[in-house]
Amino acid sequence: MSPYESRDAAAGPVTADDAVRSRRAVLKGIAAGSFAASTSLLPARAEAAGAANWVAEADVLIVGSGVAGTAAALAATSRGASVIMLEKLPFKGGTTAKSGGVFWIPDNAWLKRQGVADTRIDALRYMVRLAHPQRYAANDPLLGISQAEFDLIAAFYDNGSKVLDTLVATTGLKLVPWTTWEGKAYPDYYSDLPENTVRRGRSLVPDVSGHPERVIWPNNGGAGESLLWALQQGFDKLPIQLLLDHAVLDVTRDASGVINGLMVDRGDAAPVAFKAKRAVVFASGGFTHHPELARSHLKGHIWGGCAAPGSTGDFVAIAQRAGAVLGNMSNAWWGQVPVEVALKTRSVPVDVWSTPGDSMIQVNRHGRRFVNEKIQYNERTQAHFTWDPVKGEYPNLLGFMLWDARTAKHYAGYDPIPAASAKLEQIIEGATLEQLAANIDARLAKIATHTGGLKLDKDFVKTLRGTIKRYNAAAKKGVDEDYSRGQATIEVAFQFMNAAKAPNPYPNITMHPIADAGPYYAVILGAGTLDTKGGPVINPNGQVLDTRSQPIPRLYAAGNCIASPAGAAYWAGGGTIGPAMTFGYLAGAAAAGEAVRT
Ligand SMILES: Cc1cc2nc3c(=O)[nH]c(=O)nc-3n(C[C@H](O)[C@H](O)[C@H](O)COP(=O)(O)OP(=O)(O)OC[C@H]3O[C@@H](n4cnc5c(N)ncnc54)[C@H](O)[C@@H]3O)c2cc1C
Repeated sequence: MSPYESRDAAAGPVTADDAVRSRRAVLKGIAAGSFAASTSLLPARAEAAGAANWVAEADVLIVGSGVAGTAAALAATSRGASVIMLEKLPFKGGTTAKSGGVFWIPDNAWLKRQGVADTRIDALRYMVRLAHPQRYAANDPLLGISQAEFDLIAAFYDNGSKVLDTLVATTGLKLVPWTTWEGKAYPDYYSDLPENTVRRGRSLVPDVSGHPERVIWPNNGGAGESLLWALQQGFDKLPIQLLLDHAVLDVTRDASGVINGLMVDRGDAAPVAFKAKRAVVFASGGFTHHPELARSHLKGHIWGGCAAPGSTGDFVAIAQRAGAVLGNMSNAWWGQVPVEVALKTRSVPVDVWSTPGDSMIQVNRHGRRFVNEKIQYNERTQAHFTWDPVKGEYPNLLGFMLWDARTAKHYAGYDPIPAASAKLEQIIEGATLEQLAANIDARLAKIATHTGGLKLDKDFVKTLRGTIKRYNAAAKKGVDEDYSRGQATIEVAFQFMNAAKAPNPYPNITMHPIADAGPYYAVILGAGTLDTKGGPVINPNGQVLDTRSQPIPRLYAAGNCIASPAGAAYWAGGGTIGPAMTFGYLAGAAAAGEAVRT
């Protein structure tokens, strides 16, 4: 904890539990999965406090201390502006700090050093093809999408590598490519598409060698904290004040209605007003932990997500009141979550990144496989949303990841498979498939009130035996005719990520027959998010647009709190942090360029 932060140093290192212990009503109930609708209090409180008595002022006020906010702060100060960053949690970093810290930047310096040409048109084709697949048109000047959508994706390509070069030159950030267990640069998530001409090397990570131990999320393997640490190395020499435990409730306006500051709950009897001499930038994360917003906007049901607890979508209501138009509200950065864990703690520690194991499948309540278990998390998760119009059910609402003793041994400790010595409540065991099914049903009975009373189908075990028989034959052959498991380059890259290389004599390293005899293990999985990616629409400067597509004066935003330029896509590992960093920087720079109000 450095001196420029407001949290009392005597309070000691922060832990993830601080989030749920925080005094903030904003967070009340997240741990229990019930949400205290903090945003419903906002208008009345903001009005009641008035905006005339400023407690502090800066050229640019930034809401949120994740990567988008940090990049915005660096850009603003590089243009001579003073900054106050307001963070509602008692610790900094948001979901970024929990993350793997990977960032995806097309045409980046590392690629250039390798002599790889990542041309504008090819990169744009790849991005648009996945962001808006139903409208993509390869030879259309706008690739089939609207001018505004095209401009945002183009702005990402045109500025991403420049922003990154600037950050490398001006902060402690050093880059290395994100590499696979094979020692190769990581492939993009759709590296095999014909539109992808570069395939590998757009995903980078911070060089973490100088970073001391992680303190905020000690049990998270990722380098997100290192990324922020590197970016924030010079913060104490810059005119940046980071205030923790400061929850932004709303914007304030001057007599002519133009935004001129923020109403903030900092634990006093009443909210206080902070003045923005130039502009405000929201970088406040998504709405994963606002169940009502998630229910009414996302394209399928989620049980929770691994976003940090501050992702309660506060900007959605604030921006709507400011007249913003919303976009991309149905999409998220999807990830499967263990349902029983999420029902206890909506903000789960981590999602099921790459489903570990080879003698492992995922089946639905009918005992049928329903997805390529190895396809990357964003795509795999969406298989939970399928609706069966004949039966009138979501057959895959819950998935049952099932594995045998072999996978339990070789992939021990690779989430959600427990370490050899660990007994995790969410892991269900059975000496036989019949016993496993009975134990799953017993668990389902316990959570029935949350699932519409979902049970295993009466023929579950019989169907499951057939499923395993077919899967085992496919594993021996190395070809999965049902779901193409192990065919995409990314699936092979993910197979031994963080896991010891398990010996597998069969031709497809992602598949191994499941043992004929128990013990068997299972965990109940469902849809979740890393965080959402819908919100107010911005332009390439990061200005928030109103319902007539005009910029709302002095209001900027970036990161997961906006309608992501990525649309439906998850282009590659780092596909969320890359754009958040780029647009955060652009927003901070443009905000600093606003005239000082007199
Ligand atoms: C386990 C995990 C691994 C991941 N790995 C990667 C990866 O390797 N690469 C990648 O690209 N993405 C990854 N992601 C996703 C990525 O972390 C996020 O998409 C990204 O960091 C979001 O950045 P952000 O700045 O928009 O928001 P955040 O980092 O979430 O920051 C938003 C901040 O705003 C604060 N805030 C919210 N409301 C208010 C308010 N009203 N007042 C004041 N403050 C407020 C929040 O508390 C939070 O600190 C991962 C996510 C998880 C959970």
